[in-house]
Order: sequence, then structure tokens, then C-alpha cells
Amino acid sequence: MDHVELLRALSSQFGVSGFEGEVREWIDTTIRGLVDTIKIDVLGNLIARITPGQDFVLMLDAHMDEIGIMVSYVEESGFLRFAPIGGWDPRVFPAQQVEIRSRDGKKHRGVIGASPPHIQTPEEQKQALKVEDLFVDIGASSREEVFALGIGIGSPGCLHYPFQILNAGRAMGKALDDRAGCAILIRCLEYFSKNRPNFTLVANFATGEEVGLRGAKTAAYQIQPDVALVIEGTVGADTPGIPAHKCPARLDKGPAISVADKSIIVDPSFVSFIENIAETSKIPWQHKVPLTGGTDAGEIHVAGKGVRTGVVSVPCRYIHSPNSVLDLKDFEHTLSLVVEVARRAREIKGYES
Ligand SMILES: [Zn+2]
Repeated sequence: MDHVELLRALSSQFGVSGFEGEVREWIDTTIRGLVDTIKIDVLGNLIARITPGQDFVLMLDAHMDEIGIMVSYVEESGFLRFAPIGGWDPRVFPAQQVEIRSRDGKKHRGVIGASPPHIQTPEEQKQALKVEDLFVDIGASSREEVFALGIGIGSPGCLHYPFQILNAGRAMGKALDDRAGCAILIRCLEYFSKNRPNFTLVANFATGEEVGLRGAKTAAYQIQPDVALVIEGTVGADTPGIPAHKCPARLDKGPAISVADKSIIVDPSFVSFIENIAETSKIPWQHKVPLTGGTDAGEIHVAGKGVRTGVVSVPCRYIHSPNSVLDLKDFEHTLSLVVEVARRAREIKGYES
């Protein structure tokens, strides 16, 4: 499977926070032959190990979950009211296509509707629609019809469009935050299954990042790594009207190395370590402009006695929308950087002596 097919497969899986089963099963099947052990923990994290039992433990982390919606009420008329799961801009919602998952795992297509402009007052037209003004139309005409499909309060859904390749090696799809990171983790497991490390490599495919870094917290507690590296899909905002100082990361400039975000201030010696590897390996790289967003690193670095933790990201435009865009060269460069840092993980030093 080439990078495009891997990204396509991962982007297409359903994995709204708290409902990561489908994407987890896909990853489980894909990596089973590459790793020595696989464990699913209480919160649903998929924890895979290569060469377990070594004296040094490196944790690589990417989150499986994506932001989505949850049915909060079913109208008698068959329309679904919903609540956002994760960090949405509610202005994104109107007129989007959605997939609602029923109890038996089937997906039901629908659209987010709102009152049409024709019947809005001029005052109403000036205001952004609020989530409570919106509803999902799955083509049902009664509450009973909805219930008969196995859909009701608590049913999860995601904004869903097919994965596509745009011009010049750019990929567009939903959930590239952080299925791009999951893809890199899978590639790393392929690499280290052939090049067995002299340390324990633990890949954590995390749950619940988008609702508060929840899976990473329990995973780091169990793994107790010496060093951790979080791989993210981060905000690419090199688009018209955004000044350079407000642009967290740019497409086609290589992996974004974090110095700090809202959840962690990365140990500067770890930042330099990653930068030096990028320089000596001739991998283009950029700093992610602080202090935007938060990542699983926020929970991992304060787990147990503390964990030396770094963050490297693939820049993705329009994340937290159903059509994010990444550059495949950035993906490849981020993968190369993560493999190099992982290979040399034993060299990463922290404060303690
Ligand atoms: Zn993310």
C-alpha cells in the first residue's frame, strides 16, 4: 500500500472521539504482522510493542479519533438535533454531508439543514447560524423511522466526504488530523519490524484526543516511557489573508517542530535534538508558531515521574473541517524525521541526573 492508499484508507474510517472502534480494528489488522504485542486498554487505546522488555522505552503517539457530532434529540418529524464533539467552528456545519452511525455499525448518509435564506429576516441573515438552529436530515419522515434504523440519542456522526488527490501531490480528506500521524506510526512499525531496535518501541494509537487528551493520559501511565514523540496533523494556515506571524505551519515547508503549544513547553534540548537531526539528514523543517492548540504531549509529559516529550506535525490546511489538505512531500519528510529521531531515541537527554 503506497502513502496515498494508506492515507485514503485511514481518512475513510469512522472514528469520532469515544467511537474509535472501526479505525482501531483497521489499524489492528494492518499492523498485526509487524509487532510483537498488541493491547487494547480500558479507554480503547491501541498499544503495540516491538522488542518489549528492553531497558529503554520510546513511545510514539498519534490519535485515532476525529471530531464529530452526536445525536442529542430526535424530532417527531424525523430530523436529528445534534451536539458537536470536539473543537468545531459551528459556522462550518450548515449544508455539510454527514454520516450517522447506527447501533449495528451501519452508516446513514444525511445533510445538515437550516432554515433557507429566502425566509430569513435581514437581521437573521447577518448572524452566523448556531448549532441549536441546525438539524440533520437523513431522509426519515418520522421519529419511529429513525429509531427503526437504530439511530437515537447518543448516535455518533461525522462530516464525511471522499478522500481525493488534488493537484501537485496534495491530498484532501477528512480526519487527516490525526490519521496522517496514524499513517506515520504504521510506517514506523514497518521500518522497525525489519530494523529491530535495541530499545522497546511502543506505538500508541490514542483515543479521545479531541475531547481532552484522554486516551494519552492512561496510555502514558501504563507505558511509562523514557522518551515520547507525538506525531500530529497541525494547523496549516498559509492561505490568503493570514499574516505570517499568525500562521502556525505552512504546506510544503516540511515537518513542523513544536517548541510549545497550550499543553506543553517542550524541553529546549529535545527541540534542538530534533532540529539537528533534520539539518544533518537534509530534511526541510519549520518551527510551529507557538502557542496554538494542544496535543497528547500535554498529558504524556506529566505522566508518572515525567516524560521527555517532543512533538512533530504534518501541516494540514482546514483541519477541524471535513476537507483538510496536506502535501505528500511534507508527509514523507515528517516520516523520515520521525524514523531518524526514533532510531536515535537513546541519545535524548533530559534534566535528571
Ligand atoms: Zn490532532
